[in-house]
Amino acid sequence: MFPTHVQPLVTAPAETSMLALLLTEGPLSRVELARRTGLSSTAVTKAARPLIDDGYLHELPPERTAPGAGRPVNPLAVTADREFFVGVKISAEALFGTVCDLRAGLRATAERRLGEDRGPAAVCALVGELVELLLDADPAFRERTRHLGIAVSGDVDRTAGRVRYSVLPGWQDVPLAETVARATGLSVTAENDVKALTAAEHWFGEGIGTEYFALVTIGAGIGSGLVVNGRLIAGAYGVAGEMGHICIDPAGPLCHCGQTGCVEAIASSDAILAAVRDATGDADLDFDGAVRLARGGDPAAREAFARAGRAIGTGIATLVSLLGPERVVVTGEGLDTYDLFGVHIRDAYAAHCFKAAAKCPLTLRPLPWEEWARGAAVLGIQALFP
Ligand SMILES: [Zn+2]
Repeated sequence: MFPTHVQPLVTAPAETSMLALLLTEGPLSRVELARRTGLSSTAVTKAARPLIDDGYLHELPPERTAPGAGRPVNPLAVTADREFFVGVKISAEALFGTVCDLRAGLRATAERRLGEDRGPAAVCALVGELVELLLDADPAFRERTRHLGIAVSGDVDRTAGRVRYSVLPGWQDVPLAETVARATGLSVTAENDVKALTAAEHWFGEGIGTEYFALVTIGAGIGSGLVVNGRLIAGAYGVAGEMGHICIDPAGPLCHCGQTGCVEAIASSDAILAAVRDATGDADLDFDGAVRLARGGDPAAREAFARAGRAIGTGIATLVSLLGPERVVVTGEGLDTYDLFGVHIRDAYAAHCFKAAAKCPLTLRPLPWEEWARGAAVLGIQALFP
């Protein structure tokens, strides 16, 4: 995170666990908070006091739990508009931005097309303009925004704030967090986009309360983010969860990563299109055309989607057998063609999952672009924590 002198909002373990619970699960009584955190009621009251004084928490009107249940309780709740967070997702074509409140509710959104120059300097300058535009949407945003999260595909070192590699031209070893912090005056956390989305889904979506959780994105690329012991993991080299580059067919097609037979080399939208072009001999076919052929019943096009589905399902089964998550969320623009490969994903998943691991349900989740930007904003919310 840059600049590095920004202190987290909470540092003591009691405050940290209490605020995290209230953020992710909504209002809870002090008794419930004590039960869930293992703290005494006195410790909960003591930990809540500074956060109430700072305006981050408030007491809801008293509610009686049951007739004759004794003293009415005042649940504690997060004051969502106490602080705002900017999230920016850098895609190959555009920037997507949002302002979110403390509970990751979308308050404003904006979008900017990238220009001809997609190098780091030009893109970071555009990020600065987009953030200005977003903060101008409401005077309260400018007053109460300190943190920005920025997400991009590729190999991102969150701790150092650097993009080690991304597919955008010239994006190698870019000090992204520091550059954007200078351009915006906000403290900045940079992260891989799929990991940011996983963090958002773990704190504010399908993954709430899970200790073991995975998110898989399908579409132009195949990615995944993993939560182990309640924490998003990066792995020793920062690339934990690269499900797209699990090899499932050593004799399969060459992948852009240099290996052969990766899930992504078979199941990305480009890989599906290449397979349909090969089979039909139509080199000018585009992806929409391939989809139309498959939906129209063309056997070769249908088989290309089926093969992609089997690759994705096998990849997810591998991940689930290794990690044992409670739930896997499958998302991404690839869901638009789920009718063509969904059954193959599910069949391959069921066929290759090891024993009890197969109890883990796959949940489909549509992914409008705002969700990517929201994922980035959640990085800002997480910066409140040590
Ligand atoms: Zn690969």
